[in-house]
Amino acid sequence: MFGTIEGTGFEIIDPSFTACFIGHAKVERLWTGGRWVEGPAYFAAGRYLIWSDIPNNRIMRWDETDGSVSVFREPSNNSNGHTVDAQGRLISCEHLTRRVTRTEFDGSIRVLADQWQSKRLNSPNDVVVKSDGSVWFTDPSYGILMDYEGKRAESEIGACHVYRYDPVTSDIQAVATDYVKPNGLAFSPDERELFIADTGVTHKLGGPAHIRRHKVNSDGRTLGPGKLFSECSAGLYDGFRFDADGRVWTSAEDGVHCLDPKGNLIGKIKVPEIVSNVCFGGPKLNRLFITATTSMYSVFLNVNGSH
Ligand code: MG
Repeated sequence: MFGTIEGTGFEIIDPSFTACFIGHAKVERLWTGGRWVEGPAYFAAGRYLIWSDIPNNRIMRWDETDGSVSVFREPSNNSNGHTVDAQGRLISCEHLTRRVTRTEFDGSIRVLADQWQSKRLNSPNDVVVKSDGSVWFTDPSYGILMDYEGKRAESEIGACHVYRYDPVTSDIQAVATDYVKPNGLAFSPDERELFIADTGVTHKLGGPAHIRRHKVNSDGRTLGPGKLFSECSAGLYDGFRFDADGRVWTSAEDGVHCLDPKGNLIGKIKVPEIVSNVCFGGPKLNRLFITATTSMYSVFLNVNGSH
């Protein structure tokens, strides 16, 4: 845990990246033993991190106070992406049950979204909560394409969209309908834009492997057209997060890519497994947690995550 793990380190592509990391800070492997891990979410009040081990049908928990790892929930309905809302509640995407849920303060699980226009969702993948309490999530078909990460089934909707759950009316609205496989998503720190990854290249030759940016319209609930933000140069972008200065820290095949606010790749955190997702955590939000294939890694950075 305290030595250097082979295949890790920082790669500077633009000199501006030098200020983002601490030269002697090591990438640590905090846990291994999963099959395909995803969806890290940090709980500041409890000082723990949870993440999904999708094929093993469980959610894991790492305790920041003593470094121990335990099973948080099993079965997890092949959960994938998670986030924490402003009240500190866990919001989860579930492949098997094809829904987005919220774990309430008493531990009960409430379904926020499982259909759109009376048709079942495909398999919600990743989720974010806006400051107004609305829940925005992507719905690609990975959880119904095979039994490994869910259960094989036909898509009832016949397309893969991005949706918004309204916290007042419980309505589900499609907010982006021109994606092949919408995946990770995150609001810019000022919430004026929503960034969405398309991982369509997994199922369409020459398909998208990029992040697009959409202006949030003045109604706060709909999006303008997407503009290309960044094309992935190694594999694909799955999950990503913003730091407080507007940089994007995103998963890729060879590690975590750091993109400046214009979308230029300025540096990498090299990780020896394919990275699926990241999140900032720790009391100061200066520690990046990285889910990568079978393992969960972390590294302290010289930047802070966006709230
Ligand atoms: Mg994902």
